[in-house]
Amino acid sequence: MACKCKISLAWQMMIGLALGVVVGAFVDTSFAQTYLQPLGTLFIRLIRMVVVPLVVATIIAGAAGISDTSKLGRVAVKILCVYGVTTAIAVAMGLLFANLIQPGLGLNLSTDGLAAKAVKAPALSDTLLNIVPINPMEAMAKGSMLQIIFFAVIFGFGLAALGERGKPVLHFFEVVGDVMIRVTGYVMRYAPIGVFGLISFTVAKHGLSVLLPLFSLIVTSFLATATLVIVILLPMVAIFGKTGPVKFFKGIFEPWLVAFTTCSSAAALPANLNAARKLGASKAIASFSIPLGNTINMNGTAVYMGVCAIFAAEVFGIPLTLGDQLTVVLMGVLAAIGTAGVPGAGLIMTTVVFTQVGIPLEAVALIAGIDRILDMIRTSINVVGDVAAALVVSNMEGDLNKEPYVEGEM
Ligand code: ASP
Repeated sequence: MACKCKISLAWQMMIGLALGVVVGAFVDTSFAQTYLQPLGTLFIRLIRMVVVPLVVATIIAGAAGISDTSKLGRVAVKILCVYGVTTAIAVAMGLLFANLIQPGLGLNLSTDGLAAKAVKAPALSDTLLNIVPINPMEAMAKGSMLQIIFFAVIFGFGLAALGERGKPVLHFFEVVGDVMIRVTGYVMRYAPIGVFGLISFTVAKHGLSVLLPLFSLIVTSFLATATLVIVILLPMVAIFGKTGPVKFFKGIFEPWLVAFTTCSSAAALPANLNAARKLGASKAIASFSIPLGNTINMNGTAVYMGVCAIFAAEVFGIPLTLGDQLTVVLMGVLAAIGTAGVPGAGLIMTTVVFTQVGIPLEAVALIAGIDRILDMIRTSINVVGDVAAALVVSNMEGDLNKEPYVEGEM
């Protein structure tokens, strides 16, 4: 089975991607929709099937595994700080690049007939209250990740407090987590075909003609995101996470590619957990922080919020003052936190930012045409930021590289 000539999964996925681009360029949309899109949809469904049990099991095991509760609190605070700071920097980076490049200037696209519905920014109290599930089972059935995480963390706390008596249950959840990782392994064998289906459909549907007019938005988004990685995330991982860029890139390649092709950081969660562990994050910290970050830490989406705000303001000729741009940072952070790890979620959440600074929501429809490409860029960085934070906090806790990763286990 483990033959030397076997092409690695990552390469198989790259081949799927390349074939998808070529095939997508030649087939028409209806063919792609009928025959190719289902291949991709199957992949996304398989992955989503794994996510809830995986998150529940790993967070409970992760929280309870940090048996020292003061350490759990400390780790949680550190993780949240790293997430908050990197997300705010990410929105600012998006603003900076969009102000420099001005991607919206010179664009004269008609938005007649386009309309988008606003997602009203919920009151802060509602947002916070909504984190607490009334019924944890309902939260799991609906896949409400923040609620699931909240319950799992509390459950983990309780389990840790039971000490010896809680060990069998802790063991149970550890095993469930390992089983789900195995299951993910089976699902990932299908990934190259899934990637092929997703990409060929995207190329067939959106093609270059939609891409070109909004090319500068894509370039701005790409440059801002790349700069965030090169200037902030990589040095942060190197200095505070004791992991060099080459090792880091190799380690995150698989989840990065899953995120890039599926546009779903939730789909990349299993691969991301493995990546964090392989790179040396401790079991407890990885299984606590990666699912949490998967839900609330969206560095790529945050960059996108900043870029899109400026782009849309320019297209509609709305001047944004410094105060407006600060509002964009604040709302961008909240919107990124509230964005679900599924394709296109960030696009909907831009309305939270746009409404706050008076940008017409037609801008959403404008961006929608190329959002898949922007989504690829932002989603792949969403998952990278999570691994970066896990390494930094593992190192701060003196846990980096302490527990060697065993293939097939958390
Ligand atoms: N697609 C992104 C993700 O899954 C979310 C977004 O649309 O920004 O992380």
